[in-house]
Amino acid sequence: MFIARFQILGITIPIGVGVYHDDGFVASIQNHIQKLAKTYPNIRNISSEGVGGMCIEGEGILRTHLHVFYKDTEDEGYNIRRRAHEETHALDFFGRLDVLERRILSEQNVKINFPELRDAGIDNSIDGEVRAEIGAIYSLKKRGISLDNLKGCPEYFAIARAYYEERKDGISNFSKN
Ligand SMILES: [Zn+2]
Repeated sequence: MFIARFQILGITIPIGVGVYHDDGFVASIQNHIQKLAKTYPNIRNISSEGVGGMCIEGEGILRTHLHVFYKDTEDEGYNIRRRAHEETHALDFFGRLDVLERRILSEQNVKINFPELRDAGIDNSIDGEVRAEIGAIYSLKKRGISLDNLKGCPEYFAIARAYYEERKDGISNFSKN
């Protein structure tokens, strides 16, 4: 049994399958991919154009190794958002978004329902990104960092933020229509 410790989310979970690696800040995303590709041939052709961080699966001989890494922008809001985003992808990979749901409810009284968010009719290709931004929003709020005027926020951040706001006070009125 391995342990995965998500530093920014502040969550530690035991994991039965796979191994979690937080490789930290890297000087170049592309160079780091190339370095990892020496160990995991399956990630050889991954492109990182315009990306500030990544969560990728390296297929090892015995198990899958999940690596998260990110660039340091020296902007606190951006860094927290980015790191929490990648950590949430990893938590999603390990099938433990329920831990984050409970944490958000107990600390911020916001009732997130990840399965509902998954089925909300949002474009499938960005569903995982929206879920990752929920972890980012939680981490920013936890540190008292304003969600306004954050640098480099993608479109799915706004979708996640609207959902988060709607689920305040534990009330669900998120439209499924
Ligand atoms: Zn992502």
